[in-house]
Amino acid sequence: MYEVKNFEGDFYLEGDKFYKKPRRELNNPLLQLNRTASLLRQLLLSLGLNTPIEANVVFTHPAFTLYQAPLDSPIIFPNQITNHLRMINNQATKLTNKSERIAAKLLQLNKTESPHQRLPSFRYEELQKGTICPACRMFSMVSGRGICKCESCGHKESVTTTVLRQVEEFQLLFPERKLTTREIYK
Ligand SMILES: [Zn+2]
Repeated sequence: MYEVKNFEGDFYLEGDKFYKKPRRELNNPLLQLNRTASLLRQLLLSLGLNTPIEANVVFTHPAFTLYQAPLDSPIIFPNQITNHLRMINNQATKLTNKSERIAAKLLQLNKTESPHQRLPSFRYEELQKGTICPACRMFSMVSGRGICKCESCGHKESVTTTVLRQVEEFQLLFPERKLTTREIYK
């Protein structure tokens, strides 16, 4: 299990406390890690799965420094990520039925909608219909013989490319609407 943090700058640990220099206290990711690892353990147990959990905080920002971290802290620093991944690849053994079962169960419980996701609300009727140029994002694509061209920036692409992108955008924006030729034409 990984708790990924993209903090930038100089930080230090003092007992259970985590500070950004000079002295701004932040939530300690190591405590957060303990909490999430404990929740995951309980979840697995509730599913009848007893499996060891190896948990680490990963700091990903190249300009991150942490002072006073105890030697045995479950931390992976930016310059250790490559080695860590290599180690995991080397350790990788054949997947067992048990690991498949755990993966399937976790996928089933996975919440794909993040609570942090903040999307603007929109309705089909309110949106301007048309083709946006992928280069300049203007509503200025016109189609000619097998080619679509942007009247604003000159970007050119095949009609197929344009239509496929429209289909993709339509499905992303309105997953609940039926995909029909008429809709895409609109
Ligand atoms: Zn354009």
